[in-house]
Amino acid sequence: MKWTKIEVRTGSRTEFIDITNRISEELARAGVQNGICSVYMPHTTAGLTINENADPDVVRDILAGLARLVAAAGDFRHAEGNSDAHIKASLMGFSLTVPVIDGCLALGTWQSLYFCEFDGPRNRQVLVGISEQAG
Ligand code: ZN
Repeated sequence: MKWTKIEVRTGSRTEFIDITNRISEELARAGVQNGICSVYMPHTTAGLTINENADPDVVRDILAGLARLVAAAGDFRHAEGNSDAHIKASLMGFSLTVPVIDGCLALGTWQSLYFCEFDGPRNRQVLVGISEQAG
């Protein structure tokens, strides 16, 4: 599998950025018709997830829900003071796998791939690997 790197510039401490079109561009460049698209992110205070793109209140509510789940401050020892970001990142996860069918990401109608920033703004990287199905 060949991996390519895309840059993501985040603009606030906490936000979701829809990267579906960026990943679709990499898929088009790879020219794969049927296979697997893997998305990986080499950071510890940001994550990746798939969720609804139709109503922006869904992303807003996920961020609000995560803020309720993980207090910004608390009984944390990590000297950087961003333990909440590390915890939220682990809750989202650091990689996604999406089937590629007929040259397209096999996402549901309302699904988008989101880069989840929890300690921005920063310059981030996402690795995209696309492989053709064997046989
Ligand atoms: Zn830290």
